[in-house]
Amino acid sequence: MKTASDRTVAEKLDAADPLAPLRAEFHLPLGPDGSPRVYFCGHSLGLAPKRAAAIVTEELEAWAREGVAGHFTGPRPWVAYHEQLTQGFAELAGAQPIEVVAMNSLTVNLHLLLAGFYRPTRARHKILIEARAFPSDRYAVASQIRHHGFDPAEGLVEIAPRAGEDVLRTEDICEHIERHGAEIAVVLLPGVQYLSGQLLDMQAITACAHRQGCLVGFDLAHAIGNVPLNLHDWDVDFAAWCGYKYLNGGPGAIGGCFVHERHAHADLPRFAGWWGHDKATRFDMPQAFSPLPGAEGWQISNPPILSAAPLLASLELFEAAGMAALRRKSLDLTAYLVALLREHVYEAVSILTPDEADARGCQLSLRLNRAPHEARAIHDALTDRGMVCDWREPDVIRVAPVPLYNTFTEVWDFVAALKALL
Ligand SMILES: *Cc1c(COP(=O)(O)O)cnc(C)c1O
Repeated sequence: MKTASDRTVAEKLDAADPLAPLRAEFHLPLGPDGSPRVYFCGHSLGLAPKRAAAIVTEELEAWAREGVAGHFTGPRPWVAYHEQLTQGFAELAGAQPIEVVAMNSLTVNLHLLLAGFYRPTRARHKILIEARAFPSDRYAVASQIRHHGFDPAEGLVEIAPRAGEDVLRTEDICEHIERHGAEIAVVLLPGVQYLSGQLLDMQAITACAHRQGCLVGFDLAHAIGNVPLNLHDWDVDFAAWCGYKYLNGGPGAIGGCFVHERHAHADLPRFAGWWGHDKATRFDMPQAFSPLPGAEGWQISNPPILSAAPLLASLELFEAAGMAALRRKSLDLTAYLVALLREHVYEAVSILTPDEADARGCQLSLRLNRAPHEARAIHDALTDRGMVCDWREPDVIRVAPVPLYNTFTEVWDFVAALKALL
């Protein structure tokens, strides 16, 4: 990579990439000149797998052909449709199959999990989040605290990066937990922080929170399908994610959650519905709720088949590639992006994302060293030139080269376009 400035180097890296053929499995949005855009926005909405349309059509046809009988007939009966996502989710989450389920969407799942895991007492009623939490997570947590009769102004505690820093330090998180843990019921943090791209040390955080008797949940919106996870071994209590970012399940796709095996038979005060009830007697319509063991027992409603089908197409691609190989390519792609930025636009761009490979996923968060309105204009000009990244207030450009469908040449083209604009 010492001649990283040469585009032929990028072309050689692409030619040597064993995962390169996967790109052809996706629809690539086209730019104004009819060629594919450089799509670095998989952190927001993953691209459409080409097979998604066919797999959705199969279910539309089953509905047309079978009507209600489709619940029990055909190659993928709807009653058990979500179970087809279980193995793929378990692999991506580093979980046992009993620990994961596809259901609802992310914020809804956070609420449902908190309904069971957040059991505040006067002495221990706080929830620890990060100061720059995604707003939806903050709203969810504040409303849970209020729902239990406590005041979020006191019950919602935030951990922030040090003054002048952009990312959290594990030592600061653990020190806070050691000092205040006796008052904290739940620690709820991101796996990968959406704004900075920082990958948190979930194992270390879980261990120090458990030592203080806190339960630990992670929001994996930006982590699942991006970085390898080992939720079971890390002893995480619960986690939730959405299906439309790195998982490419399509807008509003079904999400997922994880409940550690340790809680598989726990009698937590969760919100119940018939889909969480024992499969063997669900259709006997019994009066008493008898939950399925594990994560499936947290389901409420029958799953949305049409928003689960595209995810099935995408998980097949993850399985074909393997998360370990995807991560290897991802580390190379992002390191290449860092190298080119350092070489070409060093003075003009700060990288907020940690430099250590084990503290980031594929995303880099960039801050242009100029007035926010000028930075914003440069972001917009990148869009006009066929680059798709995104702008997050107040001044961050998020750029995510995704190993399933992005190339080294695209990374090169992105930096060339940025350099020209600067
Ligand atoms: C994307 C994202 C969400 C979105 O929530 P939905 O309930 O799926 O609309 C929530 N939290 C985080 C951290 C996210 O990145």
